[in-house]
This record gives sequence, structure tokens and C-alpha cells, in this order.
Amino acid sequence: MTPEEILKKRWGYGAFKPLQKEAVEAAFAGRDCMVILPTGGGKSLCYQLPAAAGRGLVLVVSPLIALMDDQVAAAREAGLAADALHSNLKAEPRREVYRNLSEGRTELLYVSPERLLSGDLYELIAPRLVLAAVDEAHCVSHWGHEFRPEYRRITEALDHFPKAARMALTATATPAVQQDILAQLGLRSPEILVGHPDRPNLVYRAFPRRDQVKQVLEVVRRHPGEGGIVYAQTRKDVERIAAKLKEEGVSCSPYHAGLNAEERRRAQDDFVNERLDVVVATIAFGMGIDRSNVRYVVHANTPRSVEHYQQESGRAGRDGLPAECTLLFAASDLATHRWLAKKDLHLSAERSRALEKQLKDIGRYAVAPVCRHSLLAEHFSAPYPPGGAAHGAEGCGACDVCLGETKGLPPDEALLTAKKVLSAAWRSEGRYGTGYVVNLLLGRPNDRMAANGHDQLKVFGLLKEAGEPAVRSWIDQLIVQDFLEVTEDDEYPLLRITAEGRALCQDKGTVRLGLPVQPAKCKKKPKALRQAGAELGEAGEALFERLRAVRRALADKAGVPPYVICQDAALIEIAALKPSTPEQLLDVKGMGEKRVQKYGRHFLDAVAGRDTPVTDV
Ligand code: ADP
Ligand code: ZN
Repeated sequence: MTPEEILKKRWGYGAFKPLQKEAVEAAFAGRDCMVILPTGGGKSLCYQLPAAAGRGLVLVVSPLIALMDDQVAAAREAGLAADALHSNLKAEPRREVYRNLSEGRTELLYVSPERLLSGDLYELIAPRLVLAAVDEAHCVSHWGHEFRPEYRRITEALDHFPKAARMALTATATPAVQQDILAQLGLRSPEILVGHPDRPNLVYRAFPRRDQVKQVLEVVRRHPGEGGIVYAQTRKDVERIAAKLKEEGVSCSPYHAGLNAEERRRAQDDFVNERLDVVVATIAFGMGIDRSNVRYVVHANTPRSVEHYQQESGRAGRDGLPAECTLLFAASDLATHRWLAKKDLHLSAERSRALEKQLKDIGRYAVAPVCRHSLLAEHFSAPYPPGGAAHGAEGCGACDVCLGETKGLPPDEALLTAKKVLSAAWRSEGRYGTGYVVNLLLGRPNDRMAANGHDQLKVFGLLKEAGEPAVRSWIDQLIVQDFLEVTEDDEYPLLRITAEGRALCQDKGTVRLGLPVQPAKCKKKPKALRQAGAELGEAGEALFERLRAVRRALADKAGVPPYVICQDAALIEIAALKPSTPEQLLDVKGMGEKRVQKYGRHFLDAVAGRDTPVTDV
């Protein structure tokens, strides 16, 4: 069978996603390769398809033990003889895995690095091994954000399989991390397959934070009954936001390192199994999350770096359907990150500089009135739009700037406004906090101001018309562009103009300022379901919800998460096509032969309006 035929028969897909075919062909040719594809790019298929070709065993090294069983379950849904070996496995299932291996039945084997390095597998698998895939390959790199020492030793193990091809896979890798992966995993004249990092199905938004809970709720309310993640900076923030959302009737749970293992496991399980819509979490939540129909990620605080943002927001929309990522920015978050980093470790001068650059970059991302898709692509050194087409006047159509929800001020107006704000900071001589400067610009006098005679200054009330939210946001925007800085004095943060700021007041330099147009409301986005191109109508949506319920029941019965049974996109297509025979069901993308055999009847019954109990799966 050709790779295309295997893809259709086993997975029910009619075409490869970008670079999948190249990766599969490298594996077939026995060549090493490095695959860098964004989340949702379809990395697992790159090594699963070769396993399905019946040419021998494929090994997958993965650090994510929590996910392994689900990955095995998903591979089995495609009809693969898949197993996993990791430390959480009980004695009997472990014996079964060894039996399968020694009898040559296994096609795909997941192992943790520790398990592989223990050495007892080498002889057993070496004769049949055709491909060794290393997932989350960025973990080998000191330069990455998730360095794991045991990953450095993987080559030791791989050297026991000189004939097997090697495949390294990851979602994010800067050039330095890529070099490290190639070297550390000893890839031999590898094929290098780097995909474009853009995620066109994600709508990115970044707004100044005003009323945190209210702004979070606005996003949550756009997605009733759909899955979402809200990230906050500290445990306290998490608890507070989760409590508020619950009060508002949202199905949600908090998640942070301060909860006990059982509480965390339950939140994670409930979320993955769709018994829970929203998790409010610190960044402790995520590595083990594979729910593919997360429809939104909200950052209630600013993340630590653009890399972190890309990874955390990237958990939305892995199924390729529309999803939204919203970041609520305040410059004070950056100060908190700085404070936390310095408290936890003694930063070398070099690390400290790296941290400052990261904070500045994420700050710029959050406040520049520039297309967010293009900013993210640029950060990862990729052209935008992909393929080098011109960035049309209508832009990406998928960020707050291009959707007209945030407006960039024309250059002369931006300069004039910046000069007004800066002169207020200049006049107050760096001896006051942001609040004081805001009051000065808004013309709100107080005793201290009167005592200083500042209520007599020309800048007093100069931005009265603009209102407080805009003035506060401009101050943040000027901070991340280095025209203002916040200095600590006796623990009290003071706002001060920088040398660049003074230069700008003399018309030296350029500044960009933006303004949210409708702070309260984004254009209401219809549910992902309706955007998916399927004009389902009300009856279709009701059918989709029935199919979802059937899938949940099947998943419960089989003890796997719903996304393992099939993806939302497949259910949407079923709801639109209304198939009445197994053959028609095979035309649905993502419904391979095995899935149709196992579950087809239940979905067909739901389409026909027959209620059948989900029993024999
Ligand atoms: P990654 O590991 O790169 O984040 P996954 O392997 O989880 O991505 O795949 C993401 C989604 O894309 C899954 O729902 C998968 O079933 C789907 N997918 C993979 N390959 C294809 C394809 N060729 N056509 C359509 N969908 C695909
Ligand atoms: Zn845009």
C-alpha cells in the first residue's frame, strides 16, 4: 500500500498535512530526520504511519508518561498493535507487553527515557526496530524551556540500534535548540523538516487589563459548554478567579501546585473527559493535557515570555477548528515575573539580561497595535503570511488588530499623545507612582498634588478627554517601548522617564500607540461548530450535541478520553452529511476502517434518531 492508502484506510484522512509525507518517506528510506511542526500539526502520524506499514517495530521515546496510555489508545483506534512501557504499569499488563514484543506482534511501542535506558529492552527490540522516534525532542536542550537531564542520555540507548532510522520531533525550537537536538541525538545526515509556526485557526487578542474577572468572563460566555483554560500568575489569583467563575455558574475548577495530587488529578481527568468546561490554572497545568477541542485559552496575567505564550495558548484548537487566545496585559505583571525570578534563584548577569529581553518581548507583543499573527511569526524568525504573500489590507482577519478591535493611532497622533504622557512623568521627576501621573494627566487634584503645586502645571488635565483606561494603557505601552521605566524605591514603584523618553519629547525616535476600540465587547464569535464551514442550522447543532453525548458514553465505556474515540471535526461532518450506511461514514475525515467497525453503528443510530444503549465496545 502507498502511504496515501494507509492514511485513508487507517485514519480516514484524504491528504497529508504539510511535511508529514516527507517525514514518513524519510522513515521508509531509513533516513534520520528532525520534524518541527506547531501543535496540532500532526506530528504523531509521522511515526505512527510507518508503524502501520508492517515493515517492523517503531519505538517512541516520550517524557509524558501521563499521556502515553491515551496515545496508545488512540493508535489502537487506528488499528495499530500499540503498547507502552513506563513505571506506572502494573505487573500483568507489563508481562503482556513483553509477550507481544517477544512474539513479534508489536508495531508501535512507547517508552519513557528511564525505561529505555534501563537496558533490558535492547536485545528484545533491536532485530525488528526500523524507526526510533524521540518526541518532545526540545527536552534534550539546555536552551529550551523544559530541559530534562535523562534526555541527554538517549543517544546511549539509540546507539544500540545502529540500523534503525531516528526521528526527532518537537513543536517549538529556536535555531539554538535545533542545533542542540541534532547534536545531542546524534542524527546522521538528517532530513530537516521545519514547518511554519503560524496557527491560522487561532484568533489572537491582547487587551489592557482593567477588570480581570469581568474580562475573563466575557470570553468564557462566548463559549457556553465548550472547553477552555484560564491561566493566572499565582495560586491566589487562580483561587480568586475560579471562585468568581463558579459563582457565575461556570463549570470550572482551580489547578495549581498547592493542591494535593488527588485534587489535581481529578481536575485534569474531569477536564480531559469533558465533565468540566474550564480549568483556571497556574502554568503547572498543561504538560499532560491533550484535550484536542479546547476552544479558548485566556491569560488573565501576562506570561513569562513569548515562548511560554506560544506554548500555553497553543493548547487551544489542536483539532484545527477555530479557537481563541486572549491575553490580558498589565505592565505590573512583568514586575512580578522579575521579582519571582530573582527571589527563586540567584540570577547570573547573563540570565538576568535574558530575562529582561523575554519580558520586553512579551510586553511588546501584548501592546503593539500590530497584527499578532505576524508578531508571533517574526518572533520565531518565520515570514508572515506564510509563503511570502503580501499582507493584505484586511490583514490576518484573526487578531484584535486586524479585526479592528484595537486601533493603532496615526503616527503624528501617537507622537503627540506620547509626548503628553511623557511630559507628565518628566514634570513629576520620577518621584511618584503611576497613579499619581495618571491623576495629573486626568486633572484630578489631591492634597499632595496641590502641595507640590502640580495642579498648576500645563500637563494637569492634558488627557482628560481620553479617560483613565486609555491613559493607563498608554503608560504601559510606553514602558515596554523603553520611554518610561518603573523603578523601585523603598518597595514603592516609581514611574520615571528614560533617556529615550526625553529624546522622544524632542521628536527623536518613533513610537507606536494603540487603543482598544470596544473595550467591553469583541465581535461576538459564533461557536466553533458554526464557523467550521458547516452550515448546520439548529437541527444540525442538536444532532452534533447528541453525537457528542454518544461519544462521551463510548469513551466512558472504553475508559479513554472522548478525543481518542474521534475528533469534534468528525462529529461536525457527520452532523452535516447525515450518513446512513457504514460506507458513507467512511467518507468522513478521521473515520478510518477500525473506528467505523467499532463505533459506526452508534453514530449511525444517533443520526437516524434511534436511541441505542452504548454497551458492547
Ligand atoms: P501534534 O502532536 O503535532 O500536536 P497531533 O499528532 O496530535 O498533532 O495531530 C493533531 C490533529 O490533527 C489530530 O486531531 C490528528 O488526528 C489530526 N491529523 C493528523 N494528520 C492529519 C491529516 N493528514 N489530515 C487531517 N487531520 C490530521
Ligand atoms: Zn492580524
